[in-house]
Amino acid sequence: MEENPFYRCERMSRVVPLKAFLALVDVPLFLGYCQDCPHYGERWSCPPFSFDPMALWRGYDAIRLVAWKLTFSKERLFPGERRAFEEKELPRLKAAMAEELLFQEAAAAGSLALFPGRCELCLRCAREAGEPCRMPEQMRYSIEALGGDCAGALETYFGQKLQWAAGNRLPEQMILLGGLLLPQETE
Ligand code: SF4
Repeated sequence: MEENPFYRCERMSRVVPLKAFLALVDVPLFLGYCQDCPHYGERWSCPPFSFDPMALWRGYDAIRLVAWKLTFSKERLFPGERRAFEEKELPRLKAAMAEELLFQEAAAAGSLALFPGRCELCLRCAREAGEPCRMPEQMRYSIEALGGDCAGALETYFGQKLQWAAGNRLPEQMILLGGLLLPQETE
């Protein structure tokens, strides 16, 4: 990724055995959070699913967690910067991480990428019109959509605490978390 004057991006990665990671998976709990979202059920990448997320998790032996920690410059912490960042740069960063994870997926037979956040490949998801996903070969779920605790994973495996935006201000740091489910431990 290119140098950016508004934030520093630190990349972190760690492979965790699935047995250990499942301690951070609680499908009913996170489904409840999703149901509180005003966009619940609008995207095929998000719950409710026609499959059991636990069956998906149990189909793999390990997860490679990939975290990008953004530390914002002072100029980015001014009020009003949050909207500009979330509308312009965040989608680009998420797409860049998704592309990298798909690259890793292609290089590891039997693996499955997990993207940071919901799928935003289409402006309006086909699910809203009751139609099948338009790009199932590119769409991937997120860790949280499958019931994974991202905040817990960042704290447990990277020693990082999530910070939250307040009003129209960005937090000092933001972390994107994605992953790669692996059929067997490779690292
Ligand atoms: S690729 Fe398009 S149709 Fe499929 S989940 Fe993503 S936004 Fe929805």
